Amino acid sequence: MTSLKILEDKDTGGSGTGNSLYTNPCGRKTILDKKLGSGSGADASVGRMFHTLMEYWYPGKMNEIALPDSDVTASSWAAGEAMRLFTAYTERYKPTDLEVISIEQQLPSNDEQKHALHEAFGIPITARMDMLVNITQEHIDAMAETRPELAEIQPGRWIWDFKTKKRTGNTDVFRYSVDTQFMLYPALWNYLHPDEPVLGMIADCIVRNKEVKFYTIAVPALDVHEAMSILVPYYQRKYATHKLGHVELTACFDWGKVCPHYETGACDRKPST
Ligand code: SF4
Repeated sequence: MTSLKILEDKDTGGSGTGNSLYTNPCGRKTILDKKLGSGSGADASVGRMFHTLMEYWYPGKMNEIALPDSDVTASSWAAGEAMRLFTAYTERYKPTDLEVISIEQQLPSNDEQKHALHEAFGIPITARMDMLVNITQEHIDAMAETRPELAEIQPGRWIWDFKTKKRTGNTDVFRYSVDTQFMLYPALWNYLHPDEPVLGMIADCIVRNKEVKFYTIAVPALDVHEAMSILVPYYQRKYATHKLGHVELTACFDWGKVCPHYETGACDRKPST
């Protein structure tokens, strides 16, 4: 066993030029996030630590790491919360529920793919998939009790995405079905790998209630050409907005959350000159 400190927070900053960058509604926030950090706080740390644990648990590599002892919460609330989610998750699910093909794979994965995406989009575009998985009919049958929402999916290759959340999203089925991330990731993969396409993307939702709750949402992929005809102009518009540092005041107090750059005074909320 290594002495790897698995619950030290590592903010990897996403894939760099992906969906979360372009869907940030305020261009100035994008620029300040890059300069000063996103200040996304302890909630984001919990999600990142939980993701790290999954990177070892699903491929059966838990023997390579040392988990923290039980009083970790005293030194780090986020680490304690990540461990609480991990314990609940591993009591419910099994690492053999699906076959992992790759973990944290970046798209594009090489220069040729980078060139192909640049040709298609005309702007830098990247994605990092939590997991690429293969789900057989046997897997689906075996998960009938723990993930009944997957009973009707087609067996095959899917992109798997962990979502740690503070509350149950009653509209998540609709929201993810029209979410650009859920359209983009399968489209990028299928554009680059037409011979081994994915069937769509699955959200594995872990809700941080007092008693941890779980649900799973599968969003089938659109036809790749149809998806690209929607995504290319969308991300090109977003790219132009962000390059100009466009100020979007409606994003300052979004859903009860105050923008960290307003709180620190880094942004005065005045329009760009
Ligand atoms: S305070 Fe408002 S205008 Fe300023 S960076 Fe944040 S979201 Fe943008």
